[in-house]
Amino acid sequence: MMTTLIATMMFKDARPIDTYGLLRTQGNRIIAKDGKPVSLQGMSLFWSQWIGKYYTHGTVKWLKDDWKCSIVRAAIAAEPDGYIAKPQQELAKAEAVIEAAVKEGIYVIVDWHAHTAEKHTAQAAEFFAKISKKYGKHQNVIYEIYNEPLKVSWKDTIKPYAETVIAAIRKNDPDNLIIVGTPTWSQDVDAVIPYPIKDRNVAYTLHFYAGTHKQYLRDKAQKALDAGLPLMITEWGTVNANGDGAVDQVSTQEWLAFARKNELSMCNWSVADKVEGAAVLKPGANPEGKWPLTQLTPSGIYVRELIRGWKAR
Ligand code: MG
Repeated sequence: MMTTLIATMMFKDARPIDTYGLLRTQGNRIIAKDGKPVSLQGMSLFWSQWIGKYYTHGTVKWLKDDWKCSIVRAAIAAEPDGYIAKPQQELAKAEAVIEAAVKEGIYVIVDWHAHTAEKHTAQAAEFFAKISKKYGKHQNVIYEIYNEPLKVSWKDTIKPYAETVIAAIRKNDPDNLIIVGTPTWSQDVDAVIPYPIKDRNVAYTLHFYAGTHKQYLRDKAQKALDAGLPLMITEWGTVNANGDGAVDQVSTQEWLAFARKNELSMCNWSVADKVEGAAVLKPGANPEGKWPLTQLTPSGIYVRELIRGWKAR
């Protein structure tokens, strides 16, 4: 009985960061410190400039304790009215979430939430230089340097941008995982195949919205995986690509099976109390977490259950 008690306590106290450590790419997988692939599940926060009230320790702690998230994503807005206009204000939001995740022992994606990041490469490099200098020593931190490029060239637009920002990070942090967005709202992961980035620890972003994106997008992703590219689903929705509509459970389950098979990590969009299908919270939900089920939307109730039931291996 004592053994059971101790085992229970150890399980309860096991923090994802202690179990898995620094994440690295190996072939088309993202692996933990023991060399085996790991599949993390968690939540993305909403655009920081619009719903920044959930960028709190309370929310991060609740997502870990109640939702069993092993990863959270801070969607730090570049534009409009984001870091480009108000750098100190948005930097503070990133830091609040990073420090909460470090304290709680889960992973944190620091996402440069932009659709035209190449227009402000210098500011993105400056932002990630600051983050990597201050937090690069923490194994929790994952840099996502470009949320969703539009229909632009991987080779001529996104890759040169990425190389500049990656260089700024690597001056301070030689080893943490960096995720790079891909053309067409991070769907054209196969565009990377002929021109991968030369860095010791880079993966590529795949986004999907279950109501809109089906087998054709998984086929594209499979093509990239088969070519040896590691992918991370840093953002996905249960609903349509515009963020609204009803939860598509059938399509979501097909995507989860794909993620399971390929050992992919995922962050659901989003922790927000906006009146829209993808939001997991009802209007006015507590900025410090502690949400009763009555404060969750249909997507929130569904996604919370799937995260709680997910196994990292
Ligand atoms: Mg490091």
